[in-house]
Amino acid sequence: MISIQIRKSLSFALVLLIIIACQVSPGGFTLRADTRPAEDRGAMALGQAIKRLGVIGSVLHTGAHPDDEDSGLLAYLARGRQVRTAYLSLTRGDGGQNVIGPELYEPLGVIRTDELLAARKLDGAQQFFSRAFDFGFSKSRTETLSKWDREAVLADMVRVIRTFRPLVIVAGFSGTPNDGHGHHQASGLLTQEAYRAAADPGRFPEQTQQGLRAWQTKKLYVRSFDGAASPREFLPSLSTLSINTGEFDPVLGCSYYEIAARGRSQHRSQDQGTIEARGPRFSRLRLIDSKLGPIKNEKDIFEDIDTSIVGIADYAGHDERLRQKLGEAQAAANEAKEKYNSLHPNLVSPIIERGLKVLRDTRAMLDAINKAGVGGLS
Ligand SMILES: [Zn+2]
Repeated sequence: MISIQIRKSLSFALVLLIIIACQVSPGGFTLRADTRPAEDRGAMALGQAIKRLGVIGSVLHTGAHPDDEDSGLLAYLARGRQVRTAYLSLTRGDGGQNVIGPELYEPLGVIRTDELLAARKLDGAQQFFSRAFDFGFSKSRTETLSKWDREAVLADMVRVIRTFRPLVIVAGFSGTPNDGHGHHQASGLLTQEAYRAAADPGRFPEQTQQGLRAWQTKKLYVRSFDGAASPREFLPSLSTLSINTGEFDPVLGCSYYEIAARGRSQHRSQDQGTIEARGPRFSRLRLIDSKLGPIKNEKDIFEDIDTSIVGIADYAGHDERLRQKLGEAQAAANEAKEKYNSLHPNLVSPIIERGLKVLRDTRAMLDAINKAGVGGLS
């Protein structure tokens, strides 16, 4: 009788352990409520996923603290342009204020990390950090860089660039006293250094040994605050590109700026709750370096960069066989986007299946070419 009881208890404990293990294991069965925002569920999620099929763009935005990011720009890029978008905050904001509780320093860093992740869930961008420590207000970049391990922070930034492989980088700060806070200045300066170092295989060779390749980002921008309401950093009329992040998205039923404002309101410890205003809103950027030659009067952040699926061929030796296959995949992606109807989503599945088959065939073709060793692609 006792042994039966023990066996029952063990069975119960085993079932409980399995349930807990499933809840914590990535991709495992979960009993938790669905915490995805409305934009990532149902017809809205499908509409965005289909729009994303034919696009390969990517943008990395950098700053010093959680809440330094241009939330409108992140939401516009991730949810509007459907490009891979990420924010790299050098610190976790340990040295900031806390208007919602007594936690300061490391515990505050944990809270602010969580706030930032909650904001990314809404605006759809990814989140990265470096090892830089937020030691509180700093008057200059010289002071900041005397306290940070400059090489370690730069290595972290280069690692993020080589891992994420952005086509475009947007520095939140210019690296000059115009940025105000010393952390802001240092993040601007280090972003420019990281942009160059990531492309140099001689820098941080240990990363190459770990499988990361040098990566040349095509364009580097810095945020420009001309015309903005913010009085803190002011660069008079230097922007070369203006992006309307208040554009309305008919699938999402709101503007990208409205989504961004919801994300902004996640920075509760920083008292950043903001109204979800509709209508035009502008992010202004200044192009400070381009590997595409001179660009004048550009109208788009990806101007002169091929962000179609076919553009992948440019990174693999311009092979015509590859270009043709990718062209077929692009055609399927375009057709799916054109014919997508949220009331009859099943109608696009044969088109997506066709595109998937083309991509699988392309992969097999590349494997065969590389195995043959003649005219192989990198
Ligand atoms: Zn800041």
